[in-house]
Amino acid sequence: MAKGQGKPSRTRIREQLLADAAAAILPDTVDVCVCGGGAAGLVAAICSAEAGASTVVLERDLECGRTILATGNGRCNLTNFDVKPGDYNDPAFFEAVCGPGGFAAEKALSFFDGCGLSTAFENEDDMRVYPTSDQAASVRDVLLARARRAGVVFACAREVEGIDEGRVLYREVFSDARRTIGAGAVVVACREGFVPESVESEPFQPMLCPIAATGLPFDKLDGRRSDARVALVRGGRTIARERGEVLFRPYGLSGIVIFNMSRQAQPGDTLELDLAPLVDDERFAALVSAAGSARGVIDPAIVGVLGDAKRFSCTVEGLAQTEHAQVRRGGIATSQLDPATLMVRTHPGLFAAGEVVDIDGPCGGYNLTWAWCSGEVAGSGAAAYARVRA
Ligand SMILES: Cc1cc2nc3c(=O)[nH]c(=O)nc-3n(C[C@H](O)[C@H](O)[C@H](O)COP(=O)(O)OP(=O)(O)OC[C@H]3O[C@@H](n4cnc5c(N)ncnc54)[C@H](O)[C@@H]3O)c2cc1C
Repeated sequence: MAKGQGKPSRTRIREQLLADAAAAILPDTVDVCVCGGGAAGLVAAICSAEAGASTVVLERDLECGRTILATGNGRCNLTNFDVKPGDYNDPAFFEAVCGPGGFAAEKALSFFDGCGLSTAFENEDDMRVYPTSDQAASVRDVLLARARRAGVVFACAREVEGIDEGRVLYREVFSDARRTIGAGAVVVACREGFVPESVESEPFQPMLCPIAATGLPFDKLDGRRSDARVALVRGGRTIARERGEVLFRPYGLSGIVIFNMSRQAQPGDTLELDLAPLVDDERFAALVSAAGSARGVIDPAIVGVLGDAKRFSCTVEGLAQTEHAQVRRGGIATSQLDPATLMVRTHPGLFAAGEVVDIDGPCGGYNLTWAWCSGEVAGSGAAAYARVRA
């Protein structure tokens, strides 16, 4: 390859994206303005445009859909056939928006079928669904392509700062200029990046992250993994119980099971760990007796630190690494929203979708399922509202 003809540098790519963003021509007024071009916003924009509404997406980042690329460790666990309303923090509202039982997953998959995405279960025992390409980029790319076909205008590098009397105020990242765009209806899908001030909302709190704990020599166990049955206990009562891999960290515990428990854990709770969940107590005693230690059952490095038992407990101090939390609880209170359209009851023409709404679920495709389904409802609702008013 000739010198200088290699891959463009990050700086060059950024400059090109900024130039592309600056070149986007925005109308003065549009039927539907979608604020935030992530998971929920892209689906909302597609549904709005396919319903015949002229649609613009204002996105703070240099490209739409970048948040999707990091999901599922780059593979995007896009839904889960085990989704039940009871898995979310507000089951009644989730069901009112997305339907009962596996209906939300069916809806999401049917939408992605229409985008041309091939999907499959991870394995026969697991209801998690991934693109068969195993690449989150496939999910992002089919969404962008469908949005373009529907005529959605992407306005990237534009940060939404306010909504006032049918006009959305935004800042151009490339020029720092403040501008407005008029809209018949607005869909807010910015996660915690923008919540209209006048709408009642709950403070955001990180969820799905590691747990800081005391009571075990975590510094000596850092990096070790173990299959475990974990119980979260408060005042002698078991609040949650789940089996899966735990990862020891210097500050406490991580891993999907622990992430799920972070949705309920409070300082002072106890985490009870059984590090040999497939071996009952009687057999465990017999194996330890035969081997002279638990090294034949549990990772010897863990046994070297914790000794020959299989049950251990530690005390929750709080959540850890919250800056990397996968979701935030909080945002627009569900009581403020009409579940049929996701329109804010007190603000006709203002709709919300995705994590900006106070709905969150466990790991395993649940949060993207909410993003896709709520995006579909809000985008369709916004288009219908704008058309009636036009
Ligand atoms: C590392 C990681 C892995 C994850 N993996 C999974 C998974 O495999 N499965 C799953 O179900 N869930 C997963 N999640 C959760 C999932 O990604 C979110 O629940 C989902 O993306 C929420 O969709 P959203 O559209 O509300 O927000 P986002 O997808 O975050 O989109 C919000 C968009 O709004 C833009 N924005 C923010 N503020 C402004 C503003 N002021 N103006 C304009 N634009 C703005 C952002 O740049 C972004 O593009 C993961 C989360 C993380 C962090």
